[in-house]
Amino acid sequence: MVYNRRRIIKKKLKPCSADFMIDNNKGSSSAVVFGEMICQKLKVSAVEAVCNQTAVDLAGELRCNVPAFNGNRLNLEKHVLKDLAEKEDFNKFMTYIRDPREQVEEFIRKKVKKYMFEENKNKAPQILQKNSDDIQRFIRQTLFEATEKIKTEKGDINMWVKEFSISLRCKLKLTMNTISCQNFRDINNLDFLRVEIEKGLQIISKEMKSLSLTEVMNNRQKPDEILIDQLCNCCWERCPFCAAVCINTIKDHSPDKHSVPFHRPSGVNGWHKRASMELNNDFCTTSVASDKIFYPSPESEKSIPYKLYQTAGGKYASWSIIADGSMLPYWKWFVCRFQKEIEDYYKEKCKGWGEILPEWRKYTKEEALRSLDEMQSVGPPCALLHAQLSALS
Ligand SMILES: [Zn+2]
Ligand SMILES: [Zn+2]
Ligand SMILES: [Zn+2]
Repeated sequence: MVYNRRRIIKKKLKPCSADFMIDNNKGSSSAVVFGEMICQKLKVSAVEAVCNQTAVDLAGELRCNVPAFNGNRLNLEKHVLKDLAEKEDFNKFMTYIRDPREQVEEFIRKKVKKYMFEENKNKAPQILQKNSDDIQRFIRQTLFEATEKIKTEKGDINMWVKEFSISLRCKLKLTMNTISCQNFRDINNLDFLRVEIEKGLQIISKEMKSLSLTEVMNNRQKPDEILIDQLCNCCWERCPFCAAVCINTIKDHSPDKHSVPFHRPSGVNGWHKRASMELNNDFCTTSVASDKIFYPSPESEKSIPYKLYQTAGGKYASWSIIADGSMLPYWKWFVCRFQKEIEDYYKEKCKGWGEILPEWRKYTKEEALRSLDEMQSVGPPCALLHAQLSALS
């Protein structure tokens, strides 16, 4: 400890050895050690504060500038479906159908990475730099003001620590309770302490300059996780027939029924004619208007008319399926494009009930993608998103 103090004093005060000779009493060597301790703590919390703020700012940037993120739920879904169609990867489609949330989260993570590290390589480091400059300016200002205030009040080191940490609190968490002022009561020159800390801040400043986006991505609060929290904190119930995801933005919205404007052929979710190998390629919006029947589960002995699907109870009762006969060409294209894969996946066939209409086969991928634009609707204004984001920080 003694050795350490001497070493710190030597390192810190060499350039002004004349002052050092005058001030070299017990109080100032305590201030050097104490200043060093404060700077250690400042460094950790400043880096954390900069990473947090950068994550929040980037999430805001992404929500405003990435089309998939700047609208409502349906808009995000549309972009996920576009992405799936462009990749034409059947396994990804199946992940999306079986576990839509996993697929959506992966989509968000990939988009965030692409935005930060490819499309806007220069923008993200600028945000990081600005936040690190801001936090350093804030620390310097707070340090100066707290010192002046306690000097005027003729306060001691205890009061100074309290004042300094409370003033910092709005931007960074400085846990001072592990620092005991007991051993530093002899610090009587607060200006000397301030200068010591300022010297330490220059080292922190260098550290901040070398801070990279990788550190932001490894931070507790990450831009992609912020977006996932915002965009995925909603209802994820799937239609009992076609597995389309409810579009309600509230996680638990009972007694309101689950609903989705665009259903799919229920065969994509494995529905088939009982005791046959015929997949059901009817869209739910058509089924519920038909005279067909279904068995609520493979064990069910009693069949239910599609028209009365809610009387099957349970998950069927919690859905509202509008019999508007709407059929998104996207899913017609999907069934034709992956007919063999779907048949192999479910070990069923697209025949009989599941016979694909010749009309369906005419859709090109481009037409399928274009049909997704029907899903477009207006999202909340950007200002509202910013308000949500700042509430987070
Ligand atoms: Zn904006
Ligand atoms: Zn459905
Ligand atoms: Zn729902």
